[in-house]
Amino acid sequence: MADYDFDLYVIGAGSGGVRAARISANYGAKVGIAEERYLGGTCVNVGCVPKKLLVYASHFAEDFNDAAGFGWTVGKRKFDWPTLITNKNQEIERLNDIYGRLLGNAGVELHEGRATVVDAHTISVNGQTYKAKNILIATGGWPVVPNIPGREHAITSNEAFFLDNLPERTIIVGGGYIAVEFAGIFHGLGSEVTQLYRGSHFLRGFDDDVRTFLADEMCKKGIDLRFNTNITRIKKKKDVYLAELEDGTQIETDLIMYATGRTPNAKGIGLEEAGVELNAKGAVVVDDYFKSSVSSIYAIGDVIDRIALTPVAIAEGMVLAANMFRGETGTMDYADVPTAVFSQPNIGTVGLTEAQAREAYSAIDIYTSSFTPMKHTLSGNDEKTFMKLIVDRESDRVIGFHMVGPDAGETTQGIGIALKCGATKAQFDATVGIHPTAAEEFVTMREKARDDANKAAAD
Ligand SMILES: Cc1cc2nc3c(=O)[nH]c(=O)nc-3n(C[C@H](O)[C@H](O)[C@H](O)COP(=O)(O)OP(=O)(O)OC[C@H]3O[C@@H](n4cnc5c(N)ncnc54)[C@H](O)[C@@H]3O)c2cc1C
Repeated sequence: MADYDFDLYVIGAGSGGVRAARISANYGAKVGIAEERYLGGTCVNVGCVPKKLLVYASHFAEDFNDAAGFGWTVGKRKFDWPTLITNKNQEIERLNDIYGRLLGNAGVELHEGRATVVDAHTISVNGQTYKAKNILIATGGWPVVPNIPGREHAITSNEAFFLDNLPERTIIVGGGYIAVEFAGIFHGLGSEVTQLYRGSHFLRGFDDDVRTFLADEMCKKGIDLRFNTNITRIKKKKDVYLAELEDGTQIETDLIMYATGRTPNAKGIGLEEAGVELNAKGAVVVDDYFKSSVSSIYAIGDVIDRIALTPVAIAEGMVLAANMFRGETGTMDYADVPTAVFSQPNIGTVGLTEAQAREAYSAIDIYTSSFTPMKHTLSGNDEKTFMKLIVDRESDRVIGFHMVGPDAGETTQGIGIALKCGATKAQFDATVGIHPTAAEEFVTMREKARDDANKAAAD
């Protein structure tokens, strides 16, 4: 330690960096951390947290409508975007302070500024250099807007959280979960939303039944969902934008938001110069222990482009800290990571999609259910809920769980534990349901929707 200022220097105080820094310091390490923008990183400032607050805000429109069937008369409604954004900003500032305190209380030395890697053991921040035995890159990712004429007129999710006004008309470009979530947010708050995606169906990687079901529900709510299309040029005309599509047609709109992917934040911070290998997507290449091609430089979180989710970055940080300062040799288990999409209705999923299950197992059984949630029997809302279980016939293990419906994320978190424990369909069936809930459906599914005798037969 004599030659080093720190045992570990972390670049980036986001989900992964803060956790790795705090836990390492708790294990007795001397830790420094640099943050150039905001404590808590993407999730706290321009990701999970503000996004969910906006989802809550946007869902009130439906809740007000739903109330009538239960006897409520809701007065004249008015939505005020600046109030929402001001309150959201206050909450984020509160969280920023908490992150600062967490680091301070753990004894982590915080440097506010952009850090660069000078060499395998040296970091530079605000003109000051520090020596560290190990360096952890936890710099996250950044949204990308494709290089089309007029791209400067488009925003990304980063800016969407700080707009001055709610646009009357919005185009969302993209087919990932962020695009889907923002389509729901803007629509619920009263904007006229068109979502454009260049592929044949959005939410690639999710179960096909889930993708179709959600698309139907979003269209029913009034979102103009268009697949196999893309913007070729954006023009500004006074206060409005004209989006030119591939087929030559134009859409006039007040806001164009791109959610077409995020790129790892690994360029321009001295990594390549220090000998750290990046892959074709610009992500830091690491081994099972998060070690890069330079033995003293590690990386976790979105910058390694494995599973870009906050709890994954946090879990990677915990593994790294335990290995580095407690002599453990653990690796991260990426199997059965549960996830939610805060679309309207929500998606919750854990385990394999049907397509993945068909590839991996010789025989699977599928159980599905689609129904009107109890609440909507009186509300008159025609939103439906969808549920799906995928079972390996040989072992009877439930290997895939998918839901589209209110609070799907909450249900999925619990089922995620069951899948992690290797629960079988018989054990699901032996579990007593909670009545009346939507989730009880998962322990009462008896009829196979379709079964697949074996892969060869299916092919
Ligand atoms: C709109 C949106 C919604 C999302 N919703 C969810 C969700 O619902 N659930 C979920 O699990 N995940 C969600 N995510 C993903 C989640 O935010 C990320 O997976 C998570 O934040 C990754 O953590 P990280 O530590 O790798 O990086 P980040 O949290 O991005 O932190 C990286 C930090 O490094 C800092 N930094 C970068 N370069 C430097 C430098 N050179 N010097 C100093 N500091 C630097 C950045 O300013 C940033 O604060 C969402 C993301 C977005 C964009």
